[in-house]
Amino acid sequence: MSTHAKATAALKRRLGTRVSTQETERFRASFDGSKLSFLPDAVVRPRNASEITAVLQAANRHGVPVTTRGSGTSLTGSASPVRGGWVLDLSRWKRMELDPVAGTLGVQAGAIVADIHRTVEAAGWFYPPDPASKQYCSIGGNIACNAGGMHGGKYGVTRDFVLALKGHLPTGEYVEWGSGTKKFSSGFNLRDLWIGSEGMLGVVTEATLKLIPLPAARWTLLTSFADEPAAFRAVKTLFALRVQPAICEFLDRYSVQCAERATGETVFPGQAGKPVILLELAGTASEVAETRETVLAWARAHTEAFKEARDRAEAELLWSVRRRCSGAMFELGDSKLNEDIVVPMRSYERFAAYLERLRRSSRLPIPTFGHLADGNLHVNIMYHSADHDEYLRAEAAVSQLMRAVVRLGGAISGEHGIGLAKTPFLPFQHSPAQIRAMKAVKTALDPQGILNPGKMFELFKVWEHPRLRIKLPWDHK
Ligand SMILES: Cc1cc2nc3c(=O)[nH]c(=O)nc-3n(C[C@H](O)[C@H](O)[C@H](O)COP(=O)(O)OP(=O)(O)OC[C@H]3O[C@@H](n4cnc5c(N)ncnc54)[C@H](O)[C@@H]3O)c2cc1C
Repeated sequence: MSTHAKATAALKRRLGTRVSTQETERFRASFDGSKLSFLPDAVVRPRNASEITAVLQAANRHGVPVTTRGSGTSLTGSASPVRGGWVLDLSRWKRMELDPVAGTLGVQAGAIVADIHRTVEAAGWFYPPDPASKQYCSIGGNIACNAGGMHGGKYGVTRDFVLALKGHLPTGEYVEWGSGTKKFSSGFNLRDLWIGSEGMLGVVTEATLKLIPLPAARWTLLTSFADEPAAFRAVKTLFALRVQPAICEFLDRYSVQCAERATGETVFPGQAGKPVILLELAGTASEVAETRETVLAWARAHTEAFKEARDRAEAELLWSVRRRCSGAMFELGDSKLNEDIVVPMRSYERFAAYLERLRRSSRLPIPTFGHLADGNLHVNIMYHSADHDEYLRAEAAVSQLMRAVVRLGGAISGEHGIGLAKTPFLPFQHSPAQIRAMKAVKTALDPQGILNPGKMFELFKVWEHPRLRIKLPWDHK
């Protein structure tokens, strides 16, 4: 019996049915949204803090890798247990407690983000981070990846709403960072070090989230432009007017064309296949009414066409183009490499020109959409999985894209993180000194290197690993 097998058997004796070595359970925990699959030795579902401590202490004693798992929607392979070992599944940790006076929510790590939205909105509060995977992903995973979403430009991302964290160091000790108060200035801020650390520096079991009042009014406007550079230029003039839309969602002409072909309808009659920007204002009724006038004047001057929603039902109709484009893209290829780069506003037009060059040189369709208030664009490099040459061209295109965004002053990831898939590009973004400092932090907190090993710093040649050919619940949505 190997050391890992002995350690697993011992853990099973201690935790009983909360340790599963069943083939199907291990397979389900072997991959995430990236579909990169590595079988763990066991799936462990601890019930309380002392069981987590026991799991981590045993892992340290026997050198067993531990990968914490929320809902497994990560798109980078960060939740795939690349070195095997134990998957620490916190998906059953779902308790929530709202403080409706202070405007905070205490929440366990496995709570689903859409459930958080429903709970707080029913009481007139708003938790803005809204990843497109919100119906599936957990708050623990959002904290570990510093998840964003459409509201990032105006309100911020997960990090901006976490007041306190509870959980475990990789050695197993229980710790609390912050106290749930809105101000806290005591000691090093390890709370923020954990946020975005992709489960490599600790296990989050509970968080206190900051809430803001739910906006009383919303207003939606759909606009179209002659081409992508025109859309980018126009959005800059809008921001120069000090307008802060709650949502500013861009779809390039390739994304719009996919949605139009899928539905058989044009977004703007007589304007088929033009890039669009969806704007949403949010705030008090008077704030929204006042800003609406400014935005309409801007739209008359800078767009080719626009439609405003007079009520929520009309807003839903305008949103349908955005909802349909993601699934419709699969007419261009059965697979995509979905990147989440960030481009600074000053480089928008140069980035649009670069993407056209990348489309030509890679000979691949690259529909792009995303959040123009913060420059976080989803570049979707489409390919056919049965065509290996296409796949290699897609991977090469990703690498070129990453170099280009760093050259333009941007970021290789705005919300998905590094995981396995982006390890080749970490040195594009960070200097050797920066990477050494990050590794030193990892070693200080996790001297045995048991928590989510093989991620972020070690080169993972993603093109050498086949992805599972399975359909996940969120695929094509
Ligand atoms: C269709 C789709 C759309 C998406 N849209 C967005 C989007 O708009 N914005 C965005 O930011 N992301 C998006 N994502 C990516 C993904 O949903 C996020 O990264 C999310 O934060 C992952 O949460 P999860 O619960 O699934 O975490 P998992 O996939 O289970 O884990 C992700 C990482 O977090 C770690 N982790 C999980 N729980 C804990 C914990 N309790 N303590 C410590 N570490 C932990 C894991 O070890 C792993 O490294 C999308 C994914 C899909 C499939």
